[in-house]
Amino acid sequence: MIDTLLFDLDGTLLDIDMDIFLEHYLQSLTKRFEGIFLASELVSLIMAGTRAMIADSSPDRTNAEVFWEYFFSRVDYQPEDILPLFAQFYDEDFPRLAHLTSPKPEARQVLERALKKGFRLALATNPVFPRQAVVERLRWAGLEEIPFAVITSYENMHACKPHLAYYREILAALDAEPRRCLMFGNDVAEDLPVAQLGVRTYLVEDHLLNMADRRFEPDYRGRLADVVSFLDRLDDM
Ligand SMILES: [Mg+2]
Repeated sequence: MIDTLLFDLDGTLLDIDMDIFLEHYLQSLTKRFEGIFLASELVSLIMAGTRAMIADSSPDRTNAEVFWEYFFSRVDYQPEDILPLFAQFYDEDFPRLAHLTSPKPEARQVLERALKKGFRLALATNPVFPRQAVVERLRWAGLEEIPFAVITSYENMHACKPHLAYYREILAALDAEPRRCLMFGNDVAEDLPVAQLGVRTYLVEDHLLNMADRRFEPDYRGRLADVVSFLDRLDDM
């Protein structure tokens, strides 16, 4: 019997085109750092730091620690010079990216239905962003007060999607048995590998990504709007 539902955020609960979003995100970030970093230099650093974070699943360092260690090993600035500007960016500039996304009314219906039916919820968003940026996107999605048992972010995780270390870590944080969990996501390559741990998967087809990846077949598939009635049938599955 399933008792825990894991939801991806971007493209699953929030309408967002990540390519367009990242382009604006990086533009806005480089603007905040004008006069400190060349735009191209900062973008390269952020991208390489993010790749380093995704590649490193070591349990000794959080994703944030891996990212910043990489970052500060390659610049002449000290954290106290740079981190306040990042904080300002997330306080003042990041919220202005909201217009690049749209809430999905059915996301709220799905999560409220799930809560009413007694499911425990987890937000299994790829933990490459600070918690503040995740909570902000939840606000854009109109889901800021949904009581998720766990929200993954770069501060509290030591691995990233699509690595099983990430999925093991979120399951451990939930103290959940894989066979009692179901993962909803829109990205075949990032969200479905959790099936290897025995977690059932539901591919949300509203904004499908990496559909050419044939390694994993979801147990279920459909639009997010279909999930409301799916949850009612889930008791019998
Ligand atoms: Mg996604």
